Amino acid sequence: MSRKSRHAAAGRDDFSHERPHDPRHDSRHEEPAAPRPASMRTQLRLHDVMLKKSLGQNFLDDPNLAQKIVRAADVQPGQKVLEIGPGSGALTDKLLAAGARVLAVELDRRLIPLLNANFAADPRLQVVHGDILRMPRETLERFADGDKVKVVANLPYYNASQILFRLAEWRGMLSMAVLTLQKELVERMSASPGVKDYGILAVRMQAVADVRALFMLPSSVFFPQPRVDSQAVRLDYSLGRVPEDLDEKAFAKCVKAAFAARRKMLSNTLGNLYGAENARRAMTECDIDPTLRAERLTVENYFCLTRKLGPQKHERRAAAD
Ligand code: SAM
Repeated sequence: MSRKSRHAAAGRDDFSHERPHDPRHDSRHEEPAAPRPASMRTQLRLHDVMLKKSLGQNFLDDPNLAQKIVRAADVQPGQKVLEIGPGSGALTDKLLAAGARVLAVELDRRLIPLLNANFAADPRLQVVHGDILRMPRETLERFADGDKVKVVANLPYYNASQILFRLAEWRGMLSMAVLTLQKELVERMSASPGVKDYGILAVRMQAVADVRALFMLPSSVFFPQPRVDSQAVRLDYSLGRVPEDLDEKAFAKCVKAAFAARRKMLSNTLGNLYGAENARRAMTECDIDPTLRAERLTVENYFCLTRKLGPQKHERRAAAD
């Protein structure tokens, strides 16, 4: 299903008319959590909601694992949490019980009444209907209001990589994220140089955060059960390594260029895009063996190459015209 039709199915978003700030959200005005919701499947039946594969709707149906995920994020009373795709509220429930103030962004409009029925009495929860990938940065800025926000989510798997890159862009407002993802994605994010899974995702994610693979979640804890295995992962954005003066767009291009032909020697791959002489010089200045392949380089090697390579050939030509 395309992004457009997914959107049509989910209805227009509500980012433009979010709830105004409610002073009861201040940590000084903590209120007791709302009563805990009934079984997830019963609620879906009551609200006549059939789950959609196209929206990545595999809901967590195990309160102990929901608790384990929230515990991994070490949520303290009064802390702000962005939850992406609350679904019927399995994680929301545990986040509120831990005392968090939650901004929950859900694409599927059919789930909003269900979430409101479960948690509307809790002033610490703000449910917004919309696509997280279209959420304006200002929405998070307003919620953060100068504090660091944690992200806790069981992400929809169909667009998880895009969401990871969006969180990387927002990392200045985030302290950390605990996410449930497809196991293969966690392996690719946390891979070390030299292993098969090490690629663009590993370099880009490990540049912005300390990435730590956590526990596995068997398919049986989800409804409906996904065909893939799932794993939790923790990203600590406060431990990111991106140097302040790095041109991040150039870094992204450099990493993409390097892995475009991962079986080839890096000097050849980079030479095609940045000029052979320029690529050789940059690798020497960064102390990188020119016969290496992209998967052997560390994140720091890529920072150095980004600086030394400068723009790609076509960018130089465009600038000269
Ligand atoms: N958090 C719930 C749980 O653990 O049971 C639901 C998780 S389910 C894997 C993913 C959720 O993300 C679904 O509720 C789905 O509707 C929602 N979703 C899908 N795409 C989204 C998007 N682009 N923005 C916000 N929510 C999205």
